[in-house]
Amino acid sequence: MRTDRRLLVLSGPSGVGKTTVVARLRQRHPEVWLSVSATTRPRRPGETDGVDYHFVDDATFDAMTAAGDLLEYAEFAGNRYGTPRGPVLEHLAAGDPTLLVIDLQGARQVRASLPGSQLVFLAPPSWDELVQRLVGRGTEPPEVVERRLAQARVELAAEAEFDVTLVNTTIDDVCDRLVALLRIPTGPAPDGAPC
Ligand code: 5GP
Repeated sequence: MRTDRRLLVLSGPSGVGKTTVVARLRQRHPEVWLSVSATTRPRRPGETDGVDYHFVDDATFDAMTAAGDLLEYAEFAGNRYGTPRGPVLEHLAAGDPTLLVIDLQGARQVRASLPGSQLVFLAPPSWDELVQRLVGRGTEPPEVVERRLAQARVELAAEAEFDVTLVNTTIDDVCDRLVALLRIPTGPAPDGAPC
């Protein structure tokens, strides 16, 4: 399937700031369609089912994989995550700029099945900063933070597999670069703000 490079896959280690950057991008550019993944991870405070994720149990996740409903899926730090296939294909067919925020294993699978996609790696300014962010946000118990840091080392080592690396220096800068990669037409923002 030709995706016209409208499909952008954003990956990067846990804690690097993907959620914050994507929230800014969508605030400024609601025309970007963001895939909502299914996950077996427990819901965090403030997360909404169907908005942040489709929170499902193991049996439901198994059924989705068995039915071929997931474009890609992976296990990450003890939980399973996957991208529902149908909505992605529908939005690409409609020509919408489409964004997946998924881990390295998922990015590899998307590259294999939709070779026109752009793989973008969001890197932290430094390892220390990543550790501080992941520990400091306090959303996970220490053993989960450890697993996420171990996974972060694996993800950072795979940076060269991506088409583009963006270092998360400022949200506006990363947001601007994503807009350019998605080829979203830009005009002056109504409030004069960047991105
Ligand atoms: P978190 O639990 O912090 O929300 O997400 C953990 C990791 O799973 C992040 O790197 C996130 O990008 C990734 N992730 C979220 N949804 C998906 C998905 O549908 N597929 C894959 N492969 N990874 C995902």
